Amino acid sequence: MTTLLIAEHDNKALNEATLRAASAAAKLGDGFDVLVAGEGAGAVAEEAAKIAGAGKVLNADNAAFAHQLAEPVADLIVSLADGYDAIVAPATSNWKNTLPRVAALLDVMQISDITEVVSGDTFVRPIYAGNAFQKVQTSDAKKVITVRTTAFEAAATDGSASVEAVDNTPNNAISSFKSEQLAGGDRVDLASAKVVVSGGRAFGSKEKFNELLEPLADKLGAALGASRAAVDAGYAPNDWQVGQTGKVVAPKLYIAIGISGAIQHLAGMKDSTTIVAINSDEDAPIFSVADYGLVGDLFELVPELTSALD
Ligand code: FAD
Repeated sequence: MTTLLIAEHDNKALNEATLRAASAAAKLGDGFDVLVAGEGAGAVAEEAAKIAGAGKVLNADNAAFAHQLAEPVADLIVSLADGYDAIVAPATSNWKNTLPRVAALLDVMQISDITEVVSGDTFVRPIYAGNAFQKVQTSDAKKVITVRTTAFEAAATDGSASVEAVDNTPNNAISSFKSEQLAGGDRVDLASAKVVVSGGRAFGSKEKFNELLEPLADKLGAALGASRAAVDAGYAPNDWQVGQTGKVVAPKLYIAIGISGAIQHLAGMKDSTTIVAINSDEDAPIFSVADYGLVGDLFELVPELTSALD
């Protein structure tokens, strides 16, 4: 079974999510090729060529792929699909957006967010906000799969695949790129950060959220995250939300501050290696998953913790 792995990147560098999805692709069977769809992403293709187990890298370089709009990229993937039994991509926002379109165009069912490859046609995936796992078997000849990257180790990067240019004239008549606003500035990407500092409703205002969490995150080189209540209250941008309807993260260290630990939040962070919780309520559910807990007022404890890190 040959697989086409779709790379996650920003035209400059390969995102680690690709390496994790590569580990899933490798388990599917007879090797995999990597597709880099972008503009001026030659360096990404060279990086992808180092993914252990990659057969070859297909570099589709075209202005229409620069922002990876779902429509032209889905057309590109479908044009390559004949040569492959499975199309695999990391379950990032980008590919959660594009792969359903690929599946629809191929008239197959997408298998989303897999956490385990049991065999070439059987996979495990979470349901009910990660509270249960279902084993699904597909009879589709061509599989379209997104991978929950936190469930797979990153593949090694000691390979030496060849890079081939893909000649594709995309049909980009139905969508065009207007503009984008990137939140977070220079801060590390939440989905791949090794340390995440997250805040909840208890901060009470956007000003306090930033004033207390930014210095702590800066000292730890951490990404900032938030509960949905904090996002809904406007303390943090949407794409910082961790949980069932936000991002799923599994950093080495997750610090949850003023977050109660509702199951929908736990669904997005409970696989973190070490969890630290700060909460004034010693019965808060977050303590049931925490390795270390501080019971107390965050407005005192967070500045204390930040200055202790000096
Ligand atoms: P609260 O539950 O209000 O908790 C605040 C906590 O702060 C409390 O535990 C309190 O003891 C503590 N506290 C208060 N004052 C202080 C202080 N001074 N010092 C220290 N601690 C203090 N939620 C998510 O986070 N992510 C999701 O993806 C998500 N998806 C959802 C999907 C659905 C379909 C639904 C129904 C809900 C979803 N939710 C999600 C919402 C979730 O159920 C909770 O409402 C939310 O996580 C609560 O956020 P919170 O912990 O910040 O707020």
